[in-house]
Amino acid sequence: MKIILDAGHGGKDPGAKTFLTVEKDMALNIALQVREYLKRNHEVIMTRLTDEYVSLSERCRIANRAKADIFVSIHLNAHDDPRANGIETFSFPGSENGAALRNAIHLEVMRLLPDWEDRGMKEANFQVLRDTKMPAALIECGFITNEKDERRIHDINVRDTFARGIAAGIEAYREGVS
Ligand SMILES: [Zn+2]
Repeated sequence: MKIILDAGHGGKDPGAKTFLTVEKDMALNIALQVREYLKRNHEVIMTRLTDEYVSLSERCRIANRAKADIFVSIHLNAHDDPRANGIETFSFPGSENGAALRNAIHLEVMRLLPDWEDRGMKEANFQVLRDTKMPAALIECGFITNEKDERRIHDINVRDTFARGIAAGIEAYREGVS
């Protein structure tokens, strides 16, 4: 498969920020680790490899130009309410293959991280889900505004577990469609 991995934000766009954590850095770290797990068996294209700004429309263009098979975007969540916590995964409303990809990723990640809150599999009209022509999913790897999630995401083993789950979900999706 040709897989686009999209690390959220970057450069002048930090994403969510707390005193300790910047979303763009954590998202890139997890995305690069997902690539490590997939690159033996797949062609993996990153929308960014470093801390650089890439617009949302450029991310979609990269994926569409490459005629990729799937698009997976990696983010971390934030909320005004510090109690909000856990993992949620999105696909574009009405996209059946997007939902299949989303579900496969979500279920594998939750299987590896059973002590995290499961916020479920959802639909959202996000640009990177809407303007990409292939099945697309976006995962929010916990809330950096929640003390417990934030502490855990600073553990490299936890980030690696997210990466393993995302990679396993992609493989499970491929087995489901082939
Ligand atoms: Zn984000």
